Amino acid sequence: MSLNTDWVLNWVRASAAVIAENRVELIRLDREIGDGDHGENMDRGFSAVLPKLDDLADDALPADVLKLVATTLISTVGGASGPLYGTAYLKAAGAVADLGELDGAAVTGLLRAARDGIVLRGKAETGDKTMIDAWSPAVDAADAALAGGSSPAQILQAAADAAAAGAEATEPLVARKGRASYLGERAIGHRDPGAQSTSLLLRAAADVAGT
Ligand code: ADP
Ligand code: MG
Ligand code: MG
Repeated sequence: MSLNTDWVLNWVRASAAVIAENRVELIRLDREIGDGDHGENMDRGFSAVLPKLDDLADDALPADVLKLVATTLISTVGGASGPLYGTAYLKAAGAVADLGELDGAAVTGLLRAARDGIVLRGKAETGDKTMIDAWSPAVDAADAALAGGSSPAQILQAAADAAAAGAEATEPLVARKGRASYLGERAIGHRDPGAQSTSLLLRAAADVAGT
């Protein structure tokens, strides 16, 4: 499908579904290297977004939906991830501004703005074992796909594939940000829960875009 308001709405609904399905798994990951609430935090946030989608105006733009997600996540998710994801969606909304439909450059810009927002807020670098380790490879893959002439949907597929690989690649790392950083070497062997949720969200974006 073309990346218009309906795509964003479908993305949000698919995100809520996949986060709910993986709630227990995200809790399990966060129990290993954090405080065990990441699945609950994210599920609470996306569950709170769903009913609000019905209040959007018929002529809502992609940015309006992304802003609604941002404000809802900021007020409901809590923890470290709430403000980080909230900032990501807010910056994503700013990046697509008044566009009604996103082309490849716009969707790549959306992903980059989201990633940059998280970095601005949380100061994590690549390799710190955070959600940035899923976001940054996704942005790089989107850039490469865009440069290679891929369609918007293919760009999202490339981003989702890279995010999944990035999340997996957090397993051998020592954490340098967030609660997991208190564990030192004991974090080795465990996947970062925020990187995993990012991977799920970007896969949802690609899935609803089709091919
Ligand atoms: P909390 O750690 O407060 O319980 P969550 O469990 O909801 O919050 O989220 C934890 C996730 O947040 C981590 O797995 C990591 O991906 C992410 N995170 C924590 N601190 C940072 C940071 N400074 N920058 C980027 N991501 C971070
Ligand atoms: Mg936690
Ligand atoms: Mg917590």
